[in-house]
Amino acid sequence: MSSFEGFPMDVGPVYEGERIRKEDMYIEFGGPKVDVKCELVLAMPMDEVEDGKVEIVGPDLKDLKEGGSYPLAIVIYTAGTKVEKDLEAVIERRIHDFTNYVEGFMHLNQRYDIWIRLSKKSVKKGLDSLKWWGLALIRLFKSAMPFIEKMQVTFYTDPAKVKEVYEQALEVYKARDARVRGLRDEDVDTFYGCVLCQSFAPQHVCVIPPNRVSLCGAMNWFDARAAANVDPKGPNFPIPKGKLIDPIKGEYEGVNKVVEERSLGANKRFFLYSAFGSPHTSCGCFECIAFYIPEVDGFGVVDRGFKEPTVNGLPFSTMAAQTGGGIQTEGFLGVGMEYFRSPKFFQADGGWGRIVWICSTLWKRIEDAIPEELKDKIATENDARDIESLKKFLVERGHPLAVRIKEMEAPEVAAAAPAEAAAPEAATPTAVPAQAAAPMPFMPAPTAPGAITIPAVGGLRVELKGAKIRIDKIVIKKQ
Ligand code: SF4
Repeated sequence: MSSFEGFPMDVGPVYEGERIRKEDMYIEFGGPKVDVKCELVLAMPMDEVEDGKVEIVGPDLKDLKEGGSYPLAIVIYTAGTKVEKDLEAVIERRIHDFTNYVEGFMHLNQRYDIWIRLSKKSVKKGLDSLKWWGLALIRLFKSAMPFIEKMQVTFYTDPAKVKEVYEQALEVYKARDARVRGLRDEDVDTFYGCVLCQSFAPQHVCVIPPNRVSLCGAMNWFDARAAANVDPKGPNFPIPKGKLIDPIKGEYEGVNKVVEERSLGANKRFFLYSAFGSPHTSCGCFECIAFYIPEVDGFGVVDRGFKEPTVNGLPFSTMAAQTGGGIQTEGFLGVGMEYFRSPKFFQADGGWGRIVWICSTLWKRIEDAIPEELKDKIATENDARDIESLKKFLVERGHPLAVRIKEMEAPEVAAAAPAEAAAPEAATPTAVPAQAAAPMPFMPAPTAPGAITIPAVGGLRVELKGAKIRIDKIVIKKQ
């Protein structure tokens, strides 16, 4: 690691994971209070990058009022004989961990979702300009990725300029995402993996085949391949996919082997295209959460930008705690936005026919991916804010799950169901066509190891496996 002598703050991996709470914050850039923010890395011709240069367009730290939330666009220009377009996303993704190496900085998320906080402590120590952050990034990048020969950083804080760069950045992200759409998992022998997020989710491994973008949305198959090639000792690596075990769930012998090795035995199987059984793990940087809604046997989806409670009463932040951490949690899945455009989208769980609710912020971003015939049948928060109104909406609009919802509602069916029937057989892929989804194995088989069984009461038995129970409030009343 290069020396950071002369810097007003310290720099090193020891600061990764530093949390800056509101009361310790000097100012923040991006985050939920700011609509326009982004970070972008561009591969440039060698003679167009001034190595080591840091530019600030707009007010610098000392000109910004303490306690405020401000727009920011970070643009990093890179050059080198091995620096190619495919590496832009890979370098960009490292802004997150390298910024977190800087004492007094907290960086969350990626692309157009960034949220950076600076601590009062570092400002008191003399951090008075964004220049220090830029210089630290340049040194960290060039030390960890020696193929970067030149790097130049521009911070835009002028709101009009940020907006301009943001619009351009959206176009760049779109073009990167579109590139992989023509490729199918079947066309390649090798998938790629990423373990960058193991610093905070030690069991988590991202598997990136062509048809499933990483859950942070920042890395597709091409990006991960370029990263693995140029930096074989880095966080990205090839995964020979090996024998196909299940084409619908997306289970491969080679993937299972690598997942087991890289998660240190914590996870042994990955179904790439199902939220049940052995789903892909989620770290914490997912762009969206897909959550199972047992009352309608379908899925809701919410993105990070949606701040209100979702249709199940829980906001993104609450479900994020349940979804992340590198643990396989059936029915909760972190996904990248580009996954909605995948031909294998939730393939084993009924595909689009299983989606019942999408928050309006996400809807706007993925509208082109929603099948035309389902557009008036999938609810947003403007149609349904709770489960009862959701059921009503789905039945009225003739959603593919409407028949199933009516069946589940029928009192005689529930009353007659014996205890064992409450835990359905593991669904086979063919049992879940898009237009007639079968009940999913949300509950484990009765003999599942580690299951908690709540004894039968009145003919019903409830089993919980791998469940986290969160209680916000307990009221004890004297009788
Ligand atoms: S979410 Fe996955 S692909 Fe993205 S940085 Fe983390 S481990 Fe890598």
